Amino acid sequence: MKEVDRMQVLVSTLREWWVEAGNPKIQAVHLLVGALSGVDTKRLSIAFDTQKVGTFLDRANLVIEEIPFVAFCSSCQQEYQPEIGNRYCCPLCNHPLHEIRSGRELKIGEIECSTQEARGKSH
Ligand SMILES: [Zn+2]
Repeated sequence: MKEVDRMQVLVSTLREWWVEAGNPKIQAVHLLVGALSGVDTKRLSIAFDTQKVGTFLDRANLVIEEIPFVAFCSSCQQEYQPEIGNRYCCPLCNHPLHEIRSGRELKIGEIECSTQEARGKSH
């Protein structure tokens, strides 16, 4: 399951951030998942719930934000949402897919922390 591997990378990135940020209590982690990223968001959630047990993420929830697939047509100078039935061509001029603006990302977005608890613990 590649979602497990991807999540391990994300968790180690989060851990680095968490150490630098002074060990805050993380309540929620937002993950930006592009429609073209090729990962299964359900499997990603399961991987997170499995890997967080007993770690600094124990009480954190995973919030998945799906990013739509958006392309840019250089002929029309417009963004459009490519469709597989249309072979991702521009719906206006039929120009083949040339530039992807979003949809391939798999990255950490916002991290929600409980500042009060972190403060109480560190002092
Ligand atoms: Zn076009």
